[in-house]
Amino acid sequence: VERAPASNPNPASATAGIAYWLRQRSPTYIARRFRRIVSRYGISPEKAVARTRRLVETLDNYGCSPTFATPGSVVASYPQFMRELSAGGVELAVHGFDHVDFRGLTQQESKSQLIRAAKAFAEAGIPHRGFRCPYLSFSHDQMGFVPDDVFGYSSNEAVWWNLATISDPATAPRVIFDHLSEFYRPTPADDSLVLPRFVGDLVEIPVSLPDDLQLLDGLGRGEDGVGDAWLELLRASHERGSIFTVLMHPEAFDLCADAYERLLAEARSLSPAVWIARLCDVSDWWRELRASSAHIDGASIVVACPPRAFLLGRGLDAGKSGSWAGGYSMLDDRVISFDKQVPLVGAGAGVPSAHIQRLRQLGYLVAEGADAERCAVQIDAGEAQRELEERDLVARIESQPGPLVRLWQWPDGARSALCITGDLDALSLRDYARRVVTL
Ligand SMILES: [Zn+2]
Repeated sequence: VERAPASNPNPASATAGIAYWLRQRSPTYIARRFRRIVSRYGISPEKAVARTRRLVETLDNYGCSPTFATPGSVVASYPQFMRELSAGGVELAVHGFDHVDFRGLTQQESKSQLIRAAKAFAEAGIPHRGFRCPYLSFSHDQMGFVPDDVFGYSSNEAVWWNLATISDPATAPRVIFDHLSEFYRPTPADDSLVLPRFVGDLVEIPVSLPDDLQLLDGLGRGEDGVGDAWLELLRASHERGSIFTVLMHPEAFDLCADAYERLLAEARSLSPAVWIARLCDVSDWWRELRASSAHIDGASIVVACPPRAFLLGRGLDAGKSGSWAGGYSMLDDRVISFDKQVPLVGAGAGVPSAHIQRLRQLGYLVAEGADAERCAVQIDAGEAQRELEERDLVARIESQPGPLVRLWQWPDGARSALCITGDLDALSLRDYARRVVTL
């Protein structure tokens, strides 16, 4: 579907592109952002390259490799540095070819941006697995705006966490904050589980806000303020078993280096553990988890799941290796005997397959057909026909008493996940200037 030309000017010419760019930004925003950009980049790339290496080293001290969303044009300009990053374990994700707002592109332009970028990655010898558009400007409503079979995951949706540490932003100049919020269009973290989900065959991995620029430039917080906000967000996501995908900008690393140290030290110290991973690892894991299944064998269930997965059970007389939140225990075995009721989620006839798929993605083991009726925990067609948000679906299941076995959504005994992801938008002022004049 082509977008209506009235709301989407065709930025095919340079003039139209600049006009569109300017229309999205107030003069005050441009002036404030410009001052900060000039102080953070050099004319040549040395300053940004050294800063990026420092960032990667800092993360590496905690066993963390980041994912950098990088425009194809930047990969094409600095193939050697990109190969150095990639060889060091950094994941590079496609960030368009030019650094453009995808909301201003037609279907054809969007596809061609992503295909050109994928080609630039391939030519530089850099693998790519997923994409994140500049300003998170891609929406899954835009069917056909992404080329088929090029990407395994997308990380373009954002959630906003209401944090006590930033509850009073009124004193700071709001112009940058408001512009960034407008670009990112987050939904409240309270409204979802903040976990990956499949959209078609793409794994969508949500980003957690506020990001570094909202905190530093938008709300005028310093290093301590960024660290406080990230720690609060980490603890909240750990409590909920969510994924915390940090959105950061290497350009601002020197302004909040200590915040990364505090975040990662805390992540390493929490128990149960936090899985620190790259977006491509999360995407792989989500595919593995979805393929898990269970079958009933007499008075036992036999679970087939990835070796790194772990089983939780409640209301069972099974071997346990530790207690877990929500009344569950970690189970030792993958063959679990039961008494009367089958400890799986029974999905009655007429339950939409989308609900069953969603539950399987979350680690629930679902029985259908005649077996469904023997399960202690049920979703029936009546309640499931309604538009159920994933959060409500899970609440339905967890509120029913009776024995239940499920897989936790993260591997290796981890309660939650943490990804450090950043926009490697430019390495010099010259790259940065391209953003204004391309398209
Ligand atoms: Zn960017």
